Amino acid sequence: MVFSIEIRGVVQGVGFRPFVYNLAISMQLKGYVSNNAHGVIILVDTTKYKCEEFIEHIRANRPPLSDIESIDISQPNENHTFKDFTIKKSDNSQELTSMIPSDVAICEECKSELEDKNNRRFEYPFITCTNCGPRFSIIKNLPYDRKNTSMDRFKMCKKCQDEYENPKDRRYHAQPIGCFECGPSISLLDSSGKELHVGNIVDEVVKFISDGKIVAIKGIGGYHLVCSALNDKAVQLLRERKQRPSKPFAIMVKDIYMLKQIAMISSKEEVLLSSNKRPIVLLKKTEIESLSSLVAPKINQLGLFLAYTPLHHMILQKLNSPIVATSANISYEPLCTTKDEIMRLSCVWDYCLEHDREIVNSCDDSVLFVENEKIFMLRCARGYAPAYLKLPKKTDKKILALGANQKNTVAISIDDKVVVSPYIGDLDGLSSVEYFKSHVDTLKRVYDFEPDVVVCDKHPHYESTKYAKELKAQNENIELIEVQHHYAHVLATMGLNSITSKVLGVSFDGTGYGDDGNLWGGEFFVCDTSSYERVVHFKYFKLIGGEKAIKEPRRIALSFLFELYGKEVLKLNNHTIASFSAHELSLLYQAWIKGLNSPLSSSCGRLFDAVASILDVIHVCSYEGESGLLLESLYDESVKDIYEFSVLNGEIDFSVIFYQILKEENKTIAVSKFFNTLVEIICDMSKKYDLPLVLSGGVFQNRVLLRLIMRKIPDTILPEMFVSNDSAISYGQAIAALQFKTL
Ligand SMILES: [Zn+2]
Ligand SMILES: [Zn+2]
Repeated sequence: MVFSIEIRGVVQGVGFRPFVYNLAISMQLKGYVSNNAHGVIILVDTTKYKCEEFIEHIRANRPPLSDIESIDISQPNENHTFKDFTIKKSDNSQELTSMIPSDVAICEECKSELEDKNNRRFEYPFITCTNCGPRFSIIKNLPYDRKNTSMDRFKMCKKCQDEYENPKDRRYHAQPIGCFECGPSISLLDSSGKELHVGNIVDEVVKFISDGKIVAIKGIGGYHLVCSALNDKAVQLLRERKQRPSKPFAIMVKDIYMLKQIAMISSKEEVLLSSNKRPIVLLKKTEIESLSSLVAPKINQLGLFLAYTPLHHMILQKLNSPIVATSANISYEPLCTTKDEIMRLSCVWDYCLEHDREIVNSCDDSVLFVENEKIFMLRCARGYAPAYLKLPKKTDKKILALGANQKNTVAISIDDKVVVSPYIGDLDGLSSVEYFKSHVDTLKRVYDFEPDVVVCDKHPHYESTKYAKELKAQNENIELIEVQHHYAHVLATMGLNSITSKVLGVSFDGTGYGDDGNLWGGEFFVCDTSSYERVVHFKYFKLIGGEKAIKEPRRIALSFLFELYGKEVLKLNNHTIASFSAHELSLLYQAWIKGLNSPLSSSCGRLFDAVASILDVIHVCSYEGESGLLLESLYDESVKDIYEFSVLNGEIDFSVIFYQILKEENKTIAVSKFFNTLVEIICDMSKKYDLPLVLSGGVFQNRVLLRLIMRKIPDTILPEMFVSNDSAISYGQAIAALQFKTL
């Protein structure tokens, strides 16, 4: 009997066909395997019993990078006779073109070959196979074939070619393969850009790092700046040169054993860290610390990840101690991916470990954390990007969603899915905007995509909004849709959880443009996928100095002090007041009372700032989200009390809570009660509206807040397995675009 087996899911470009081929051969089956529009199709001539056994084997032993969504078995009407089992070449037009595979960390088999003196790829820094290596970062066009990647300029040697063509080989159709003879190679530069000719480059780099030097290392999706994580002087030097006084650095380690000496991990975190995506995972620091205290000052978490390329692996094996590995970029500019770009940073590094495989699509490291056994993301990039997320319904329209201005991502719609770009970053400088446009172009090129609908934020000054308007100006047939920032946030979490019905959506965020022109960010919506009503929000307060207030928590605290005490503030004795001169205070008072450059805001993120300043935790931030992280570290589980609050005419007046904090003598108690109060506010609203509770917005990157809510309201709908910050906006925008009647 002939059976047709259709397998859907992530089954193309992941070694599925040779796997099926080898399995069929070992089971002495006849037939063929081929790619089709939905995935993989197999025809076998055998008994029903054997066919079932075959499928069982497929399920149990599928290639590591594959993911099976469904297996359908039928019996074809036509007659087939087979002499043997073959891999049938698929009609190219039939190939599924909607999936760009992500970059994958080195696999165990390649790792052991890398360390095997008798292997021809012993210590070859670019060793890969079908189950590992770069993909997204080297791809120029789909389908994912060598000629469409930056490997096209490396002509395979005879030995590599044989492996590539042999279905029984682990490297059958592994697009990035190469060896010392034919593949990419590494080189070493000094800070003038001159190539250094040394015996063994990796040994030399290891020596530099041990000596406290800063080394730029070209990886998969960009460059890292690397130094010893044990050496205070080196870390301090990196902080000074990079002008990054306190933002935590990520640490890369050799293996899980080394990692366990630095941080406490749960089994879930261990699985995540060791997965072939190798993200940075935020972990709790252990008490005994061998690391430099300058790596992540004043906070109780640490971002750690395992070596993920053969090159990192070789360096860390030889160094045998943890390294700081931070993305190499000039402030406000995108990640460096070319030699020219890294040379512009040569004042920061002493040596650069270069290679000649071009990075086509840059990709930062992904950052995740686990709370209450659930996975959340801070940055969706290498290994996870592009992300393929669900749309509530299929659409024929081609939607391009351009995202927010900070932590930008862009997205396009394909059928019932949204493809979300990796983390692009903040669109603050000219080169960042260019970088953003290049990501839009990549999606358009790879997917052969021309948008009918362009979606952007309502903020008129966002670079992404300006670009949307440019696209509209170039082509008036394009439909332009503007979506409110926080509604897009809620829609993103709803989309992740396949919810379209009415919910109570909480959007606690930094600042975003509201429908009334004020800066929202502490909102409760009653909404579904077609409309929203803002039912409750934090009462507006003034951001004295606008943009400046976002970087200076003390300005937010001062705004509340002015509200409570007016001009009398000048007589008060507290840390916020003490951080200003008398002259500044009187100027700021004028600005506050007249509303000069002091926009109104309901942002919850800014409330963290106000609390952090009034408790003397921080008055001026050196990186975004710093006040929240510092407050998190002060939270004490044993404190159960809350502050009084009230909801009047749909507004929660935070100055009432602020006044109580001001009277508190103990900092830890104040911080803990502040967190408890926020949770209580959410619980209160949840009871009042009696709708499914949906959380969204950057504030929910705060682990303490998430943990407390999950405990209190276990069925809360969360932004799981994706980001809750502004990187989620493009996804939410794409969902919003579906509702418009014209679509
Ligand atoms: Zn491999
Ligand atoms: Zn070769």
